[in-house]
Amino acid sequence: MQVYYSEAHRRHKPPFEIFDGGLRVPYLENPERMDRILKALQKTDWAEIAEPQDFGLNPIHAVHAEDYIAFLASAWTEWLASEARDKSTLLPATFALRRHPQKPTSLLGRAGYYMMDLSACIVAGTYSAALASANCALSAAEAVANGERAAFALCRPPGHHAGKDYAGGYCFINNAAVAANWLSTQGNVALLDIDYHCGNGTQDIFYERADVLTISIHADPNFEYPYYAGHANETGTGAGAGFHRNFPLDKGTDNARYLSALEEALSLIREFTPKYLVVSAGMDIYAEDPLGTIKVTTEGIAEIGKRIAALELPTAIVMEGGYNNAALGRNIVSLAGEFK
Ligand SMILES: [Zn+2]
Repeated sequence: MQVYYSEAHRRHKPPFEIFDGGLRVPYLENPERMDRILKALQKTDWAEIAEPQDFGLNPIHAVHAEDYIAFLASAWTEWLASEARDKSTLLPATFALRRHPQKPTSLLGRAGYYMMDLSACIVAGTYSAALASANCALSAAEAVANGERAAFALCRPPGHHAGKDYAGGYCFINNAAVAANWLSTQGNVALLDIDYHCGNGTQDIFYERADVLTISIHADPNFEYPYYAGHANETGTGAGAGFHRNFPLDKGTDNARYLSALEEALSLIREFTPKYLVVSAGMDIYAEDPLGTIKVTTEGIAEIGKRIAALELPTAIVMEGGYNNAALGRNIVSLAGEFK
């Protein structure tokens, strides 16, 4: 199986993030995550690590607003030229509630307009890392479009919290959405998000579309980030009505309960009969994840992989979250190994 990976992710290394209550902590979405996964994949006899192709900005603009991408491109340079006293990372302290349609022009105004929280920290290499990450997802999409059974995009930064014109939850460009949209020109696509957190950005991007079925299985937003999306009654609108589904889970959800939600999701995908499948693979469903509250084991993750693979669809697997670095490698090998 082709695994698309770029060293460019290392350029995105924010010095800290800010937790609820204001606590500054080391950035959990760190480069070591990729090192752990890469090392585990290199020990297998089926993973072939490859550099992504450069697809340019068109497939990214097909999903994200151009003004938002332009903000990501210039934000760091503008930040360095600003009068801020601490320039270690661009983080606004004011956030738009989008009550007003006018887009601000100042850097901090735009930052608060385009960011939804304090974890989407922008540093010098954020934009180039995000572009390379999207290219990994596009390369995996291209591989399956060319007839591969599956391909794995080792994306960092992750993407599923990024919407059409906003960053959030460590995400800047929605890699899985860019890949799914690219594939959608060749047939219907199902996008299954198994990250612990709701894929709110993906939900927003495809909410009015019937050609990309989006399904997210995640911790209930009644107690978990991103709080403002992911409820079971959000099912799409307009032409997209009925083509989005959320499966909110309780704290402590174990393998059996997770797998029963997965089976419901998989039967929806079977009914939809897509040509391609994109999987947003977050490993923070793992029982020992520092950000998670559900209790799926490594064996459970292998079973999830096995059941998704049984759909027998050409599948692009796109890396999302997962913050137990010590377990990330074996969990990804357990999941992706079912598609080899
Ligand atoms: Zn997550």
